[in-house]
Amino acid sequence: MQSFEYSRPTTIDQAVQMGARATTAQQYADVRFIAGGTTLVDLMKLEVERPNRVVDINGLSLDRIEPAAGGGFVIGALARNATVAHHPVIQRDYAVLSEALLSGASPQLRNMATTSGNLLQRTRCVYFRDTAHGCNKREPGTGCSAIGGHNRMLAILGTSKDCIASNPSDQNVALTALEATIQVQGPKGIRSIPIGEFYLKPGSTPNRETVLEPGDLIVSVTLPALAPGTRSHYLKLRDRAAYEFALSSAAVAVNQRGGRIERVRVALGGVGTVPWRSHEAERELEGREASVEAFRRAAEAALKDAEPASENGFKVELAKRCLVRALTVATQTA
Ligand SMILES: Cc1cc2nc3c(=O)[nH]c(=O)nc-3n(C[C@H](O)[C@H](O)[C@H](O)COP(=O)(O)OP(=O)(O)OC[C@H]3O[C@@H](n4cnc5c(N)ncnc54)[C@H](O)[C@@H]3O)c2cc1C
Ligand code: SF4
Repeated sequence: MQSFEYSRPTTIDQAVQMGARATTAQQYADVRFIAGGTTLVDLMKLEVERPNRVVDINGLSLDRIEPAAGGGFVIGALARNATVAHHPVIQRDYAVLSEALLSGASPQLRNMATTSGNLLQRTRCVYFRDTAHGCNKREPGTGCSAIGGHNRMLAILGTSKDCIASNPSDQNVALTALEATIQVQGPKGIRSIPIGEFYLKPGSTPNRETVLEPGDLIVSVTLPALAPGTRSHYLKLRDRAAYEFALSSAAVAVNQRGGRIERVRVALGGVGTVPWRSHEAERELEGREASVEAFRRAAEAALKDAEPASENGFKVELAKRCLVRALTVATQTA
């Protein structure tokens, strides 16, 4: 690991000023915030990340989970994944988020991992993590070793000829179905970014993953108030039951009236280069009777633009079945 300076600011303004000295907030940022460290430290040991300054934000009071002023709930950036998952209001009103968090990693990791670190975790593409191979995301212009290489875990939606890496997070899929907003404090002030506008598809610049700029510190995530009676569910399909990333996952939040779907939000994980919102599936479902036939049509719509690589064609059908099952569970009446 290359040597680096370590700082521990005591105010958000100090942290932002320290972060603003970076030349980029994207791959190879020279200044990095550290929260739980469960992504960053691994990548520094592998020399996939080489910051010369690490800004420890754990001294900031950013771990509260509380009602939002205008309705909904606010989760502080440093709230640990385990704390969020077990919070009684999150479990009751935002079950999809609790289920997604509990399906990720291990209890020990969830005790360390934070809301903001999870938002910014990096792909598990093996070539990204191995500096002996070309990887456009890690080193622009060096090619994509996964296209034609080991790509079983990687994305089938939102890919480009330069990168097919999947976003590995479970949390972020649930936050997408909940239409969360991300509050960021940067050198120019505070702004709220809808999660649907936060991530960037790879295109020709896979090294650029989010809209964040140097000094931008995530301070919280807001979950909107859900309509009474909303039921939500997260289903994750993976190679083994624990400590494994999604091959395919689905997060759904549904309102029904008299067996008919009034409103639904659908997001897919494990298959997209970003947490994948499916407006196509939502259009197929809204106003329709809740039935397996309707769910299957929605799943077909969600995957119609899928472009599998050499090893992950199985994900197309897997993702469809995953979504059908998630919708079935969420719409079952007790
Ligand atoms: C073995 C293993 C298995 C895992 N399995 C899963 C899984 O099944 N599902 C899943 O979803 N995840 C899984 N993870 C990933 C885990 O969820 C992430 O490592 C964790 O959420 C990252 O959070 P952190 O606080 O430790 O982030 P850190 O490592 O501290 O930070 C990650 C990134 O976020 C940036 N950052 C952190 N906070 C802020 C902030 N407030 N503002 C701006 N930038 C910030 C850092 O600079 C860094 O670039 C696994 C990880 C491991 C090691
Ligand atoms: S898929 Fe993306 S992360 Fe993986 S090798 Fe290709 S460019 Fe790198």
